[in-house]
Amino acid sequence: SSAVGVLALQGDVREHLAALAEAGAVARPVRRPEELEQVDALVIPGGESTTISKLAETFDLLDPIRKRVGAGMPVYGSCAGMIMLATEVLDGRPDQQSFGGIEMTVRRNAFGRQVDSFEAPVEITGIPGPSFHAVFIRAPWVERVADGVEVLGRVTDGPAAGRIVAVRQGNAVATAFHPELTGDRRLHQWFVDLVGRAGESAR
Ligand code: GLN
Repeated sequence: SSAVGVLALQGDVREHLAALAEAGAVARPVRRPEELEQVDALVIPGGESTTISKLAETFDLLDPIRKRVGAGMPVYGSCAGMIMLATEVLDGRPDQQSFGGIEMTVRRNAFGRQVDSFEAPVEITGIPGPSFHAVFIRAPWVERVADGVEVLGRVTDGPAAGRIVAVRQGNAVATAFHPELTGDRRLHQWFVDLVGRAGESAR
């Protein structure tokens, strides 16, 4: 089966490792370029994107991850991880870097003008069953997507209704919320299935 790495520089790494294991993947922390070479896919956790950006440079992972993502490695980012996958970041630090992968503009801490953290039901296209109980913590939202980026989910009510919070472009997937913090494993399962299919077509 495929090995899925979790970028282990900062953030809720353990929660993603546990969620991936529950979804049937071999999950491993990735802190070094050699560890990146040994995984078929990568999850970028929630946490603080400015810190993850800085540490990725320090640990010589910025360019290797950019290259793998550019080459089509399956990648999933939650919250700070979504920011790290965006080609454009608003309200970031001036020197903030990202891995790219999804041609979109995200705004950091976007909901924070109203409230720091909240929970809301979000339906994700392609994942059957009830809405996700989505947990948002100083979350970004997506302000613009390029052609070719699929919108998978939006906030449905309240002042932020209509805001895009889940997207996919090719093998790159991102959510503004944290499914790793709830018991719902459908999103991790769906990603692990995508990783398996990507591996087969690469063979
Ligand atoms: N506000 C954080 C950032 O800009 C993201 C918060 C999170 O991942 N829960 O990176």
